[in-house]
This record gives sequence, C-alpha cells and structure tokens, in this order.
Amino acid sequence: MIITIRTLKGHKGDFLRFAEEVPWTFSQETPQIATELTPLMVEGRVTNTGRAMYVEGSLHIKVRMTCTRCLDDYEEVLSAAFTEEYVSKAKAAALAAEGDDEWPDGVPTYSGDELDLHQLLWDTVMLAVPMKTICDAECKGMCPSCGESLNQGHCNCTSHRTDPRLASLADLLKE
Ligand SMILES: [Zn+2]
Ligand SMILES: [Zn+2]
Repeated sequence: MIITIRTLKGHKGDFLRFAEEVPWTFSQETPQIATELTPLMVEGRVTNTGRAMYVEGSLHIKVRMTCTRCLDDYEEVLSAAFTEEYVSKAKAAALAAEGDDEWPDGVPTYSGDELDLHQLLWDTVMLAVPMKTICDAECKGMCPSCGESLNQGHCNCTSHRTDPRLASLADLLKE
C-alpha cells in the first residue's frame, strides 16, 4: 500500500488521513489463517513531524482460521494498531555521512513522494495472528480415537465406550 505524501513535504505539522481496502493474501504464509474473508481494511494518518513522516493507524481483516484443538474452522476479526516513522533516504544518507546515529540501521526510509506501508502492514498483521488458534475457550477438542469434533455432542465411539470397571460391574449384576 502506497501513500502519496507530496502535499506534506516541506510543511512541518501538516497531516493527511488515509483509508483503504487492500486485497491481501496472508494464508499462504500463515498456517493459522485458512482464508481471508475481507480485504485488509487500513486507516490512519501521516504527519510531517519535521524530522520524519510519522504514520499511525489501525487495521482489521476478517479471516477464517482453523482451531488447533478441534480442527474446525471459525471466523475471527484480527485487528491491531501501528505506528512507524519514515525518514527520507536523502536525510538518512546525510545523517549517516555526518556520523549522526540518531537513526539506527534499518530505519524505514522513503524516497520521492511515496510512503510504502507494505512491510509495516505485514508485520502488524503477523503480530495480530495468535500463535495458538482456539475457536472458543470452551472448545472440547476432538475424540482421540475417531478424530471427530466433540463440540457438536458425542461421536459414536464415546457413546459406545464403557468404562471397563463399570462393564465388569454390569456383568456381575447380570449374574
Ligand atoms: Zn475448537
Ligand atoms: Zn470418537
């Protein structure tokens, strides 16, 4: 996602707002996400702080995830906030040449009139994806013998299985 900042350049204190729906596929690189159900919804603003372009905003996306306990799919909205400072490439190079280490290595830069938020948005979504996906705190998981989800009631094997101690008791009662 690219933001054009031409109107901000040279105007310290000015800001602009942005709101965009970005089509994006995370599922190929994120096993937790099965499918994207909406584009990535991004909104925020960019401010020219004089020393950099300061970006702040939030994003959300509705996805279908796979529960690690019962393996059923469920829908969830991932949302997160982000902030980042982008310094112009020219300024970063000038500061580096002066031996000024105000900007650490790897600080995001921009050149021309465009801010590229791709990396920032990607990192923000990755942080919003839970390590363990659980469809519900009450999820009962799946049957260890047949693999069926136990959230819709019992599978066939659990209903037929009898505690061996009870079985021998039943035998005793029959005699
Ligand atoms: Zn589950
Ligand atoms: Zn079962």
